[in-house]
Amino acid sequence: MSTFKAIRIDKAEKGTTAAYADFSDADLMDGDVTVRVTHSTVNYKDGLAITGRSPVVRRFPMIPGIDFAGVVETSGHVGFKPGDAVVLTGWGVGETHLGGFAQRARVKGDWLVPLPVGLTAAQAMAVGTAGFTAGLAVMALERHGMKPTDGPVIVTGAAGGVGSVAVALLAQAGWRVIASTGRPEEADYLKGLGAAEIVPRKELSDPGRPLGKERWAAGVDSVGSHTLANVLAQSKYHAAIAACGLAQGMDLPASVAPFILRGVALLGIDSVMCPMPRRLEAWAKIARDLDKAKLAAMTTTISFDRVIDAATDILDGKIRGRVVVEIE
Ligand code: NDP
Repeated sequence: MSTFKAIRIDKAEKGTTAAYADFSDADLMDGDVTVRVTHSTVNYKDGLAITGRSPVVRRFPMIPGIDFAGVVETSGHVGFKPGDAVVLTGWGVGETHLGGFAQRARVKGDWLVPLPVGLTAAQAMAVGTAGFTAGLAVMALERHGMKPTDGPVIVTGAAGGVGSVAVALLAQAGWRVIASTGRPEEADYLKGLGAAEIVPRKELSDPGRPLGKERWAAGVDSVGSHTLANVLAQSKYHAAIAACGLAQGMDLPASVAPFILRGVALLGIDSVMCPMPRRLEAWAKIARDLDKAKLAAMTTTISFDRVIDAATDILDGKIRGRVVVEIE
């Protein structure tokens, strides 16, 4: 029986602990495909899991890591054979099922997608759950009929993972992108990704009025709370806003005014249980439309032994764009 290295989260008297540990194949949970993990990433939810700041882990011990890319070692699933390059995001991996901060993972084949054509494993993880979610958000806006000629699009938490990929995808599609950030020093970075205008985070993060001056026709929000409420309140007639995240908070202190007086639509984005056809569509879109030079510009690569530190950094808002973890 072979052993492998992983991050292990245990329940402690107060909260949880996270440390590197050895696991054996017998520790892996049920699944019909075993994957040699080559790359993972650090997402906001991984930060919550590793630090224990929010109860996202619901099984102990847990291996965190909500996404990974790797190569199939063994498979009892008709869709995959040894040697296939695969990607996983979501499905409770890293929360209820042992996750991607490990040299090996065993999962249901139904959860895997083939490595998208045009992306390497490292690039797929540079996209990762955050970028995949940004892709779903852009698709949701398009499905709602939104187009660049409707007016500008606001992206909140713009220098973060979801935000950076959303800025790049929307700019590439021809939108005038307004990027909201709490890090004015990242203005050049965001303009490099395609942002036309930078809005200070503070303009949107305090309690605001139920309706304000019309500013944008669409939005991708990874922040929630007062920020999302203000984004809705300052939306143009018949705007659509895709809600992805809760970096400011899970609350939504808003009124119905934008919905009933301006016909604004709030589109919910969930990447975890996203059905397979939509997953494949989002990955194909990202592989096709996301500029690889911009993807490289938003990506930092770290070694496996840096993940626990990076988990704290992402919650403290210190990480720009995306972080790829080299597991091998
Ligand atoms: P990041 O930490 O990379 O990005 C979040 C960004 O939000 C930060 O970079 C910062 O941007 C901004 N921010 C942080 N704290 C605050 C605050 N207190 N008030 C206002 N803005 C803040 O995380 P991700 O991009 O990985 O994830 C973003 C959010 O999306 C998270 O809440 C995450 O849980 C959620 N998410 C949801 C998914 C889904 O399926 N719906 C999937 C993936 C992520 P800046 O410095 O530019 O201001």
